[in-house]
Amino acid sequence: MRILVVGGGIGGLALGAALGRRGLVADVVERRETYGDEGAGIVLGPNVMAVMKGLGLHEEVLAAGHPVGLARITDASGRVLQQTPYAVPGWPLPATAIHRSRLLRILRAASPAPRLGVTLSRLEDCAEGVDVAFSDGATGRYDVVVGADGIGSAVRRHVCGVDVLPRYSGYTCWRLVVEGHFGDAVVEMWGQGKRVGVVPLDARRSYVYLTHNAPRRAEAPWTDLAGFRAAYAGFADPARSALARVDRLDGLLHNDIEDCLAPRWWRPRAVLLGDAAHAVTPNLGQGAGLAIEDAAALAWLLATMGPSDEALARYERLRRPRAERIRDRSWVLGKVSQWEGGLARTVRDAVLSWTPESVSRAQLEAVVRDMPGVPIG
Ligand SMILES: Cc1cc2nc3c(=O)[nH]c(=O)nc-3n(C[C@H](O)[C@H](O)[C@H](O)COP(=O)(O)OP(=O)(O)OC[C@H]3O[C@@H](n4cnc5c(N)ncnc54)[C@H](O)[C@@H]3O)c2cc1C
Repeated sequence: MRILVVGGGIGGLALGAALGRRGLVADVVERRETYGDEGAGIVLGPNVMAVMKGLGLHEEVLAAGHPVGLARITDASGRVLQQTPYAVPGWPLPATAIHRSRLLRILRAASPAPRLGVTLSRLEDCAEGVDVAFSDGATGRYDVVVGADGIGSAVRRHVCGVDVLPRYSGYTCWRLVVEGHFGDAVVEMWGQGKRVGVVPLDARRSYVYLTHNAPRRAEAPWTDLAGFRAAYAGFADPARSALARVDRLDGLLHNDIEDCLAPRWWRPRAVLLGDAAHAVTPNLGQGAGLAIEDAAALAWLLATMGPSDEALARYERLRRPRAERIRDRSWVLGKVSQWEGGLARTVRDAVLSWTPESVSRAQLEAVVRDMPGVPIG
């Protein structure tokens, strides 16, 4: 079977690895010229770690990352609003936080090497498959083309026949990695229209993310380090200690937070995966996990049913409801967590702190256990 994967990000590389486990070899093309020490942190839940085990990669992820036993939400003063153990009975591998570039390195080593600096210049159906022309002048004929090319997917246009525009959440996010370990829990602190998250990456580094409400594509509300510190000065530890470690602003990553759901995920001989099909806001920390799950599901269907319409339709039927559920929950959670109004926040914080741990645990378990179409082990 001739398979082309467009996009060598988390989803595309996971697909390359998953196909390889099933004896199939894909061509992978990636637009960027190199993989650097890019990105910040990613948390992979126990379910995604089980998928990584199926790819034979869980030990490398555990060695390169940090197990996360607890997820905690606090207010800006550090008062705990909700605390949820990140362990789910029946899923023995721990949730693991890992630097994105380390995860990419592990996936790259297990996938066919992507052709770097290459994108598509033409994609056309023919009687024997799909004819593709690449930006480097090469051409190829494939049985199926997989769009793993992220939220701005070009393959999505081919599959859906229209441009599908992302939906902006109303808040923007800054990410960085700092020296220091501020505890083993993932902590997210909710302030007034702002959040700070602190995630242990290993024994000496932490991933920090900061959100604030802002119009789309707004400039940063600070011009220097003092302004940056002042913007989040109201946050207690662990945010305060983590932000005290920031000594320059040029390493900050910035994304407006958006989601995007393709109205259809496949057409004959072309299919979407990961953010190209369903970018979700990062409030549940599931986007990369969904892409890895998709990869395992699609590899299994292609290996067992071939690149048929039935296989691609089944893939969408199995995966879309979960992606939609996570998209919707994540959207609402993001909106509520970014509230600015005093009364609304007081009520919200009270409800959260009165909610028994059993409820938040059940919600987490529902996300972890609901993985249709994904072969485990
Ligand atoms: C601020 C933020 C924080 C996040 N935190 C988390 C988290 O903690 N946990 C989590 O699970 N998820 C998180 N996510 C989501 C996660 O990053 C994405 O869901 C995940 O990266 C999706 O993987 P992907 O491979 O589908 O897309 P991408 O990672 O976007 O990869 C797409 C790849 O395709 C390449 N490409 C694009 N267009 C072309 C083209 N035309 N030709 C060739 N190559 C192309 C790109 O260069 C890229 O390498 C976060 C996202 C954001 C914005």
